Amino acid sequence: MAEKDPQFYIDGVLAGNRRILAKTITLIESAHPAHRQLGRTIVDALLPETGKAVRLGITGVPGVGKSTFIESFGMMLVERGLQVAVLAVDPSSTRSGGSVMADKTRMERLSVAPKAFIRPSPSGGTLGGVARMTRETLLVCEAAGFDVVVVETVGVGQSETTVASMVDFFLVLMLAGAGDELQGIKKGVLELADAVTINKADGDNVEKAEKARRSYAMALHLLNPASPTWSPPVLTCSALTQSGIDQIWETVQDHRRRLSATGELAQKRRQQAVAWMWARIEDGLKERFFNHPDVHARLKEVRAAVERGEQSPTAGAEQLLFLLDNNR
Ligand code: GDP
Repeated sequence: MAEKDPQFYIDGVLAGNRRILAKTITLIESAHPAHRQLGRTIVDALLPETGKAVRLGITGVPGVGKSTFIESFGMMLVERGLQVAVLAVDPSSTRSGGSVMADKTRMERLSVAPKAFIRPSPSGGTLGGVARMTRETLLVCEAAGFDVVVVETVGVGQSETTVASMVDFFLVLMLAGAGDELQGIKKGVLELADAVTINKADGDNVEKAEKARRSYAMALHLLNPASPTWSPPVLTCSALTQSGIDQIWETVQDHRRRLSATGELAQKRRQQAVAWMWARIEDGLKERFFNHPDVHARLKEVRAAVERGEQSPTAGAEQLLFLLDNNR
């Protein structure tokens, strides 16, 4: 059966076949161990063909205009002859729910553009699980020849950090607020940004957006830049009228040129790969621990003993961890 043969998928992805690409992603996202294993084999075989795309992360609070932005930005790239894939990291999404990220219906023109490929967030699972799949999907899209892979995430929880750790360039979308411009921004998000753009800079909002741009620029100026060759700029744009959208692409390319010249981009990717492995090891250890039958059998009892103060937390932990060694 051709469809159990990894080569079928590998050849299909390398040929840029969208249907086989979508099937490969379904294997990666599958809960079925044999399918996941097949997915991993395919990803490993494709690795030498990865690395060529611009990996771009985009975040912002709900309503900031992410999907409108990605539609405008993606269409601009497609019109320049580039192939664009859009992925999402959203552990809260469900396929049947109303607000699936990177939803095709939210990106009307891009979703039917032949040079674009939109994949909603995998449903269910923890952030680690969803993000694992997204990183592998990103690699598969690269092997399929996409020039730009956009990874979208809502600015909630840990997801921005996770997305920032799998992309070359992290763009934070903001709005011009009424009061304190910096209110409501989670600490740390600005530190992840390679650029910030104030969206909805159109109509009556242009002046307010420019004011917000200046105050964010000052806030960013106070942070230590992550790279000696790049100070994250603050821009304004309108996803609706498309003004300022091409400037954002120029900024991404400028960043790429500079960090490639110094070797920082390659180094960043190497560090990301190793960090990713460590994160997967942590996930894997936890999964093994909680799935171990002996741990499962004793966990409640040990937990209760620790709660009652009959056993110290350290002794309880050691006792449970010891069970892992026991069975192997
Ligand atoms: P998301 O939740 O971040 O994906 O935001 P959406 O793209 O769904 O946009 C939320 C709302 O803001 C929609 O009603 C959009 O039409 C509107 N919107 C998005 N971008 C702009 C923009 O640049 N200017 C204006 N005026 N409205 C925008």
